Amino acid sequence: MEATHGSLLERVARRVESRMSQPLVPLEASGRHVHLCRADIDALFGAGHALERRADLSQPGQFLCRERIKVSGPKGDFGSMAILGPERRESQVELSATDALALGIDAPVRLSGDIAGTPGARLAGPKGEVGLARGAIVARRHIHMEPRYAARCGARDGQIVSVYVCGGRPVTFHGVVLRVSPDFATYMHIDYDEANACGFSKGMLGFLENY
Ligand SMILES: [Zn+2]
Repeated sequence: MEATHGSLLERVARRVESRMSQPLVPLEASGRHVHLCRADIDALFGAGHALERRADLSQPGQFLCRERIKVSGPKGDFGSMAILGPERRESQVELSATDALALGIDAPVRLSGDIAGTPGARLAGPKGEVGLARGAIVARRHIHMEPRYAARCGARDGQIVSVYVCGGRPVTFHGVVLRVSPDFATYMHIDYDEANACGFSKGMLGFLENY
């Protein structure tokens, strides 16, 4: 067992050393959450209700709300799901693949906002319920990047890249969508299935590859 452990450690160490000059991206794991449009906030919490900020997220202007809601599918529900603000043009439910199975919702892997043809879900708040016709997705793994850092890395908006994560369970994530905007802080976002798959812990970094 010791020899196996030693050789794995050596392989990882060699790989890390060879990538010392490669760009790094910090990782964040996003739990299941919903984004809500104005009409759905009115229906769930009462007309004109303003979502209350509980904590700021890493992306500028984005925040975790104090309010929570119940989200249901044909096979189950989550009684107290996080809401992320500010309000969006259209409501959206972001799940891990495991969450989607628990709800019985066949949610496809999509980038946030790309919800054409996706299944819906049932939302319940203190003042009412909403049956979403669409908007349930498993978020595609992606990187938010500031233009200055992208220029330094030689990376471009819209590129599909890979990210090697050297955690407790070393893994390379492929098919990662790179998004560059002055509105972003530089972070790679993965869901909890992916976080568990790579042995994620807070503050973990990934090496940008194939860009
Ligand atoms: Zn994100």
